[in-house]
Order: sequence, then C-alpha cells, then structure tokens
Amino acid sequence: MKSKYYAEPFKIKMVEPIKILTAEERLEKIKEANYNLFSLDSEDVYIDLLSDSGTGAMSTGQWAGMMAGDEAYSGSKNFKNLERAAQNIFGYKYIQPVHQGRAAEKVVLPILLGPGKYAISNMHFDTTRAHVEIAGARAIDCVVPEALDTETYSPFKGNMDTKRLKKLIAEYGAKNIGLIIMTITNNSAGGQPVSMENLRETSKIAAEYNIPLLIDAARFAENAYFIKQREKGYEDKSIREIVLEMFSYGKIFTMSSKKDAIVNIGGLIGIKDDEGLYEEVKARTIPFEGFISYGGLAGRDLEALAIGLEEGIDYNYLKYRIGQMEYLAARLDKANIPYQSPVGGHAVFIDAKKLLPHIPYYEFPGQALAVELYKEAGIRTCDIGSFMMGNDPDTGEQIESQFEFTRLAIPRRVYTQSHLDVIADALMSIKERADSISGYKINWEPEILRHFTAKLVPKK
Ligand SMILES: *Cc1c(COP(=O)(O)O)cnc(C)c1O
Repeated sequence: MKSKYYAEPFKIKMVEPIKILTAEERLEKIKEANYNLFSLDSEDVYIDLLSDSGTGAMSTGQWAGMMAGDEAYSGSKNFKNLERAAQNIFGYKYIQPVHQGRAAEKVVLPILLGPGKYAISNMHFDTTRAHVEIAGARAIDCVVPEALDTETYSPFKGNMDTKRLKKLIAEYGAKNIGLIIMTITNNSAGGQPVSMENLRETSKIAAEYNIPLLIDAARFAENAYFIKQREKGYEDKSIREIVLEMFSYGKIFTMSSKKDAIVNIGGLIGIKDDEGLYEEVKARTIPFEGFISYGGLAGRDLEALAIGLEEGIDYNYLKYRIGQMEYLAARLDKANIPYQSPVGGHAVFIDAKKLLPHIPYYEFPGQALAVELYKEAGIRTCDIGSFMMGNDPDTGEQIESQFEFTRLAIPRRVYTQSHLDVIADALMSIKERADSISGYKINWEPEILRHFTAKLVPKK
C-alpha cells in the first residue's frame, strides 16, 4: 500500500451510538454547565477529546481475555500471563500491577525520595509532581529549550536538557538527588518524544552519580514509534527491539496502562533487578493496592492488560495511531491553524493565543476556543493555559501561562478519519469568525485545581 496514511488496521464489530444535539441544544447545555466542559454530561458530547487516558477501545482479543478472568485472591493465572508479557517486552525481572499510574507513583516514590531530596525530570506529569511533593521532596523540570518553541521543527522536543542536568546535580549535590525521572513521551510538553541518544546520555549521567533512573512510561510505545521514524540507526529496528533498548537505560518504571496499553483501568511497576527494592515495593503494594498478584485490579483486568501491552506495540497499529495526529495536523497546516508543531503522539495542541489574539490571557483564549468547539460541533476539549494555571498562591493574582493551548486528546481506536474531518472543519469555521469570539471571566472558583469546577460567563 503506497498511501501516506494508514487506514484503521481493524474493522468495527460493535458500535456505541453517540447523540448529535442541535446547535440550540448545545448552547443550552454549555450555558447550564457554566461554560466549563468538565461539567457536561458525556452523553451530550459528540466527539470527546477531553483525555486519551482510559478512553481507548479494547479489541476482540482483550474482551475474550476478560471472560477468562481468574478471580483467585492469590496466584491468579492472569497475573502470570501479565508478568510474562511485561517481562518479555521490557526486559525487567520484577513486575507489579497496580490500579493506575498514580498508584504506582504512590507506592514507589516515597521509597526513593524524602524531605531534603530532589527529583529531576525532563518534565513531571501533574500526579508525579504531586507524589514527589507528598513524599516531602522537590520536583525540578529540566526539558530542552526547544520544547517551548511551538513553531520550529525539532524531532525530539521531549528530551532532557543533559547539560543543565549536570549543572543541577553539581548545584544540589548528587547525594540529594533521589531520582532522575524520564517521562516518555513527554506528556506536559505536548506528547513530544525523547530520543534513544538522550535516554542513553541521561542514563550515563545517572550511573556516574549513582542516582537511579526511573522511566515514567505511560506512552512508551508511541515514543518507540517516533524513534523508529526519526532517529538515525533505528529505521530498520522493530518496535519491540526499540522498546527493549529504551527500558535497558532505566532501573525502575512506573506506568499508567490507561494510555499505550489500551485498557480502561490499570498500571504497572517494573524493577529491572534490584531485589531489595522489589521487597519494599511489595510491602507497600499490599496495604495500598491489595495482594501482589492482583494489585488493585480484577483478574479479568490483568488479562486485558497483558493482551493490550502486546497490541500497543504493533507497528501497524502505531502507524495508524500517529498517522491520525499527522492527518489532523496536515489539515490544520492547509488551513493555517496554528498548533504545537510537530504534533506529538496523543494530542494536537491548538495555539489559541495565535488563533484568538484579541483575547487576553486573563480572559482565557484556550478555554474560549474549547467552548467554541463544543458550540460549533459538540467536540469536547480542554484548556491547557492560564485558565488551568489558576492564581498565584502568594499574591492571588491570575498567572499568565507561557502557552494558551486548547488540547485535542485523541482516544485510541475510537474515532475514524471522518471524525477527524469534523474536528478540522469545525476549527476552520471558528477561524473564520474568530474576531467575534469573546473571552470569559470567572464567576466562582475553588481555591485549588479550579479548572475542574469553576463557573464562567462570557465577557460580553
Ligand atoms: C496519565 C499519566 C500518569 C498518571 O497515570 P493515571 O493512570 O492517570 O493515574 C503519570 N504519568 C504520565 C506521564 C501520565 O501520562
């Protein structure tokens, strides 16, 4: 097949009908939701791009696996299957399931961090940062400067800034750095990949100073695909070979399996060979997550996860998956709609600051565009900008975010290319009337994480 984009490498066996409200009904619904997309009922959404986490569609193989759940309290056969699949794919000796990514963080991070310690990462995901801080330590982000430039092409915008990493280690003292964390792909930088060279270099620095390297591995398969596409020397390697090499540079991984392992719930901890650390992980898993052979999951969920890990590293699946982002990005390029470029692995980040330049940061351009996408076509997205950042805890002033993005997170194996066309068409039509779109002000907000529940009103 000589087509630039792969069509879906699956056919549809079961469908979930979605409601299409009229434009008038949508106006009513979003008003009732106080212009906060989190307050909408999912039933009133046509295309839901709020998150790619746990929102993927399982395969016939996974559903068949669900029926083969062994719900024994200990020593379930599904645990054995999961352990075998994960040992094989990652090359780590010890595998511990947990109920989701943040549970893995809750179990692992306090073992390696404590008051006075630091974790340095290419970028901490929100829950990772929270667990670093709950452990009493401090989280430092150390991403390459290219990540902040949304327009210039760079193949690996998710990379660790290794020069700065060395400086930070010298400044804080190696014995105070409890962990180096490599997030693949770099979620907070827009799903941007990390190169093999950068993983290797970071691992070398970690070994030199005797600091453990932890891989935050939610989107490990998408990262491997980008390495195959973009890094010299990896064109002819299989995804499986690339994944094995990537993980060889870490000592531990934590993973939300709700992303690349294509399950609705689940997480993993992997430990390469440190038996002492594994003992500590088991001791903390039992009170927090349950016995080690189920880790907060039903037997059937363990089986779906074992199968999903394999499906997630299938080359044709990944080509289709990343191809969806590339297809949407190509349509946006044609229409001159600005976004974080090149697109990452799981989402397209529309640059609302550039699309709606007349809306100041304190009237939330990213949120204004998100509301407009819902009004236009029933598409649900979210603001990654000043609305999400909230107020400065010391001064109470609205923070001005570096970016004003509207994030379109694409669930796995859920929407077709026709849905992507609806999204592109909606953005084009919004662009045409961009001048007439107003900003928002907040009527009510809670003190922390306000964007989930705040109530807004249009500025005019
Ligand atoms: C989603 C995610 C987590 C947290 O996982 P949950 O399953 O949502 O608890 C941690 N790190 C990264 C990079 C993630 O994307």
